[in-house]
Amino acid sequence: MEIITSETELAKAGFYWREIDGVRALICGPLEQDGFVNGFLTRLGGVSPMTHDSLNLAGFNEDTAENILENRRRFLKLFSGNWILTGCWQVHGAEVHLVKDEADAQPVPGVLGDGSYCDALVSDAARVLLGVKTADCVPIVIADPKTGAFAAVHAGWRGTLGRITESVLLDMKDEHGVDPKSCLVALGPAACVDCYEVGEDVASDFQKEFSNSQEFLKPGKTGRFHLDVRQANVVQLLGGGVPLPSIHLCSYCTMHQNDLFFSYRMEGKASPENFGRLLSVIGRRGQVSPFTQLGQPGER
Ligand SMILES: [Zn+2]
Repeated sequence: MEIITSETELAKAGFYWREIDGVRALICGPLEQDGFVNGFLTRLGGVSPMTHDSLNLAGFNEDTAENILENRRRFLKLFSGNWILTGCWQVHGAEVHLVKDEADAQPVPGVLGDGSYCDALVSDAARVLLGVKTADCVPIVIADPKTGAFAAVHAGWRGTLGRITESVLLDMKDEHGVDPKSCLVALGPAACVDCYEVGEDVASDFQKEFSNSQEFLKPGKTGRFHLDVRQANVVQLLGGGVPLPSIHLCSYCTMHQNDLFFSYRMEGKASPENFGRLLSVIGRRGQVSPFTQLGQPGER
């Protein structure tokens, strides 16, 4: 996969930049046009010391709550209206959590981090902003304009191996009657295949799990492989029934473009106590209810 280097390529992929007061995010245009607020945040425009003026959006053990909450307040200015941001305590698994309504999305009083332990969130509630944290792993947002359901996914290699994206599509179908054919998907900045090296054990797990693993796994130097985590999730989306033209790939690399994005492999490995997390979000606007007229939850 080519690394995006120009605004033209970015636009061709369906994304554009939005910036307010130094906070920058990539927005997927087609999702936004269909009523889904979305954004893949960069590390720019915050108050955290990683390295300086960083927009660190999670990780209460490594940064102060004041910094993180100020950074969240800043990035929310990118979107008009009032939003309830909700995330999950990510565990590199393949579990999906349903956020039923606004009350379900509210933070637990007295708890700084997120309450549910999982790596993907699904909802159809207006004004709820689902967020996933990444630093090299793949952030994925999925929207279904027909039912109004949407999802945010954190796909690292473990979750990808556990088929997390397939699970999300199935949960969206079971809970909200979503047909994958009508879904729009955006995959955000993550480590590219050239940067993402794995050992023989991980490669072998993927070869056993996916008969088409050659589409996203290639041999590297002796005993090493390169894993295209983004492509491995595209394969799951296509297999789950999402049409290729509805899948938007923002192929920025968090390691090649470490000035724009946090990277665990570039920064966190050397200094686990001092690296930041990016946030990717999706939500849908309220009051308008064309969705419910087009499809009812549970419809097949
Ligand atoms: Zn790279």
